Amino acid sequence: MPLTADDIQRNLDAVHRRMHEAARQSGRTIDDIRLIAVSKYMPARYVQWALSAGQHRFGENTVQEALSKQEQIKNPDIEWHFIGHLQSNKAKMIAGNIDWLHTLDSVKLATRLSTSALNSSHRLNVLLQVNIADDPDKFGLPAAALPQFIEDILRADLAGIQLRGLMTIGRREATPAQRQADFAALRELREDCMRRFELPRFNELSMGMSGDFEAAITEGSTMVRVGSALFGPRPTATAASSDI
Ligand SMILES: *Cc1c(COP(=O)(O)O)cnc(C)c1O
Repeated sequence: MPLTADDIQRNLDAVHRRMHEAARQSGRTIDDIRLIAVSKYMPARYVQWALSAGQHRFGENTVQEALSKQEQIKNPDIEWHFIGHLQSNKAKMIAGNIDWLHTLDSVKLATRLSTSALNSSHRLNVLLQVNIADDPDKFGLPAAALPQFIEDILRADLAGIQLRGLMTIGRREATPAQRQADFAALRELREDCMRRFELPRFNELSMGMSGDFEAAITEGSTMVRVGSALFGPRPTATAASSDI
């Protein structure tokens, strides 16, 4: 069933209410938690409607779809987040067109993103994707590899990107307790990295999706990536080919 503008407004209100409640219960301020509306596989008009309802941050997970949505909705007020796995050979297509990349996992990709961002006079905010539960089906750096990875990135002195924090995707099969523990582990990892490398702006935690964003907020998430709770279920054929 296609959604209407009213449905999207209602869904946004409901997600905001859940976010507020989770923030309140954990004694956090809502201003520290941003909602990234994940519009992948959804028509551009859904983005327009969400935008009219006050939502300004959107997430896409393929280069092709991100560029096509941007072409259809030329609006400088939108903050675009790239949340999918990115091959380094596609870095130059996207680096100048997005504000945040959530999935950095290789030095080669970082180098190419930086060069391309600089070429378009842009500075890209990047999050490092961590495979916190060592899930063999997921992209991302193992937690143990993170310090060396950050050291390598800092040594490469990449002026086009700025390291802003960590991102993880929750395990598909996990008990609520496991999930909570994974989110807590990501927060601790970010705190270790901030201290160890003296990176004051390395303070973001991108974690939590439609099914688990309250738990992520409890553990300190600063960016929740919410798709189906806003825009309805995605077509299963395409969903199966995504990295979730
Ligand atoms: C699709 C996707 C989401 C949104 O998932 P929902 O369960 O629909 O909220 C969040 N993060 C990433 C990386 C995704 O690819």
